[in-house]
Amino acid sequence: MHALVAELFPICRSITGPGVRETLALLGHHLPLALHEVPSGTQVFDWQVPNEWRIRDAYIRDATGRRVVDFRESNLHVVNYSVPVRSRRSLAELKQHLHTLPDHPDWVPYRTSYYHAQWGFCLSHHRLLELQRQYGDDYEFDVCVDASLEPGALTYGEAYLPGATAEEVLVSCHICHPSLANDNLSGIAVATFLARHVGRLARRYSYRFLFVPATVGAIAWLSLNEEKLPNIRHGLVLTLLGDPGGFTYKRSVRGDAEIDRAAAHVLAHSGHDHTIAEFEPYGYDERQYNSPGIGLNVGCLMRSPHGRYPEYHTSADDLELVRPARLAESLAQCVTIVELLEHNRAYLNRCPKGEPQLGRRGLYRALGGDLDRTGTERAMLWVLNQSDGRHALLDIAERAKLPFAVVHRAARILVEHGLLTELEDDDRDRGASQPPRLNPSR
Ligand code: ZN
Repeated sequence: MHALVAELFPICRSITGPGVRETLALLGHHLPLALHEVPSGTQVFDWQVPNEWRIRDAYIRDATGRRVVDFRESNLHVVNYSVPVRSRRSLAELKQHLHTLPDHPDWVPYRTSYYHAQWGFCLSHHRLLELQRQYGDDYEFDVCVDASLEPGALTYGEAYLPGATAEEVLVSCHICHPSLANDNLSGIAVATFLARHVGRLARRYSYRFLFVPATVGAIAWLSLNEEKLPNIRHGLVLTLLGDPGGFTYKRSVRGDAEIDRAAAHVLAHSGHDHTIAEFEPYGYDERQYNSPGIGLNVGCLMRSPHGRYPEYHTSADDLELVRPARLAESLAQCVTIVELLEHNRAYLNRCPKGEPQLGRRGLYRALGGDLDRTGTERAMLWVLNQSDGRHALLDIAERAKLPFAVVHRAARILVEHGLLTELEDDDRDRGASQPPRLNPSR
């Protein structure tokens, strides 16, 4: 995953343009990715697909031809989506187009201007002070943004992995940031490797992986695919998954959807520091998926949330900040969440009057004493007690405070011994996706 992040890092991405296509073409080596082009001007809900941005070069140059700010050095040096400009400006005039970070004077900020026609440059605060010292405010520089903003298309990628049922799990990440490693490349890498993993599973759900430019890309997909929405049962936005921070799961707007419970459960048993955050209509594309007219149950898995780590949206969000081990931990959480969703079924105890005699079947310890250390015996007792058709395995795992995998293993053993029957989806729907009912009457 880190190698993929490193491969994608130099590409100058934006919400449209060749950088996105190049990125998706590289991802296509790893997963079966369909590329879609939505023409500029297409109305997508309340938005219009913008013109396509193509940048060739950008610089601020002194009279000797020396580039004092150079897009070729780092694509963060130009405000993303800058309109073209060729002019001469004094440093004093230029300053209103220059962005720096005085608090982190060695870092270059990342700035965008998608929906206001502007141009600008980003540089380290140290570099700006140097220019002032070396040239003075009256010195006139050549300024060039060699870019075009013309009708083209918005590009997104989609990988659909059909499962045994048409019900879907949606995984989405944004692909519009240029040379920033944690904010967007880590999410892209984890989503790509999750898709590869899911592709090898015998799956109950179908999976749809979306690689979209933030906001307008997600809105475009939703607007063009409304007929697919009723099949989407669970969703996850993946982003910021390579930094050293603990995990953050941001709930769906509903707050108690199966994906919310699955993610919280997996993180609680992961052994990693983590925070469960309530939904807020700010952040990544979970905003679009959880909007009232869409109403999907989509949460967001991150490590340090946006804006809460100093390197966020700066040149310090680089290949050093993102560590291979952190990416691997993040992928492991995603894989465990998928396994939970796949196996969260409801069962019926076929021997519900009293406990079945587990010892006779070799399922219970031969000698009296403490319950087993793996929790399997305890889990079997919980599964037998709660498998009245109203409780799915996640309900049971939550109540028993046992990891889902242990409860699932117990259920499989009980099925093998004829003590448990898996319920069909129709029977299951009442119990699995809803909180356990109290005082069920039979
Ligand atoms: Zn961002």
